[in-house]
Amino acid sequence: MSDSKSARSRIAATLRQIPPSGIREFFDIVSARKDIISLGIGEPDFVTPWHIREGSIFALERGATSYTSNRGSPRLREALTQYVAHAFGLTYASDDVLVTVGVSEALDLAVRAIVEPGDAVLYHEPCYVSYAPVITLAHGTPVPVATKRENDFRLNREMLESAVTARCKALILNFPTNPTGTTLERSDLEGIAAFAVEHDLVVVSDEIYSELTYEGERLSIAALPGMQERTIFLHGFSKAWAMTGFRVGYACGPSDLIAAMTKIHQYTMLCAPILSQEAALEALVNPEPHIAEMREAYRTRRNLIHRSLNDMGLPCHRPRGAFYAFPQIAHFGMSAKEFALRLLEEKRVACVPGSAFGESGAGFIRCSYATDIEEIKEAMARLADFVRGLNP
Ligand code: PLP
Repeated sequence: MSDSKSARSRIAATLRQIPPSGIREFFDIVSARKDIISLGIGEPDFVTPWHIREGSIFALERGATSYTSNRGSPRLREALTQYVAHAFGLTYASDDVLVTVGVSEALDLAVRAIVEPGDAVLYHEPCYVSYAPVITLAHGTPVPVATKRENDFRLNREMLESAVTARCKALILNFPTNPTGTTLERSDLEGIAAFAVEHDLVVVSDEIYSELTYEGERLSIAALPGMQERTIFLHGFSKAWAMTGFRVGYACGPSDLIAAMTKIHQYTMLCAPILSQEAALEALVNPEPHIAEMREAYRTRRNLIHRSLNDMGLPCHRPRGAFYAFPQIAHFGMSAKEFALRLLEEKRVACVPGSAFGESGAGFIRCSYATDIEEIKEAMARLADFVRGLNP
């Protein structure tokens, strides 16, 4: 091999500039340890309801082992149109629904369908770890808009106006938000919708936590006047249905955008796994009270963790959705990573440093309450003890 060739990296430059996920990095450390209470994982502690698992088992028994249509099984897409109409007031033709391998894939497809090299994409931060990397991998420029604790990490039109440039082509929204649990009022969403229209942006709305909304109106931006034609609505079964391992999600949107996303999906994924699609179908056609029961369990835990954190001197706004609390730790004069590592070492409690969710998450930690309530109580006792030790 010539010298010049051996000096060339085998790994694409775009990928080299992306750091590994801050959550994964932290959990590699955690998984090597025993006797730890983890408030770190963003995944339900509940097992998928039995009738949904049985739906998948029964499909396997019937010999459902084939591909489905690229867009997903027609019966599932039909059931999804009905669910989205009932739950969000959104009417889609079943051809404008694409079944994906989780919201993760749907997000990647949406961004790749829209972004050309040099285009910019707005999103609010702190945010889910994959938004910036997915934009970068599509050769776009991530434009984070910092949200603040003083304002419960809410986003509004003015904040977006001060960040937008002529290169911005899309806006990613995620309410309820991972990692802050923030939800928006109708008036905030109306302002954001007007901003998207004025700047001619496609809105990619990740509503994966929607069913886990504890108070306030559950409203999709796609349902506001004039927004459905410019919004890609993303949703999936991982969180509210406790189906992370099934890897099934979906996108609904304008025909041209869904067709463009389907083109990438058919060449890269072909289709979502048939047994997962069968499970999702069962979840929709035979809804049982499990979702409401799980939501009430999360609400009880949310109340406990929110009160405990504030009582021990970690200021925390009240999360209104998802299953995360995001208390401030900046006043202890150490980085979020140092705080999280010391908490792990000294008290064997795992939380995720807020900096994993973008620069504006520095000074916070994310505590997931998708954990058994007795474990949360014990974790709060240990955290309070840790905090007492830090105070002079
Ligand atoms: N979007 C958000 C905001 C998330 O928090 C997550 C998972 O944590 C995902 C998407 C990925 O979801 P899925 O399991 O459907 O790929």
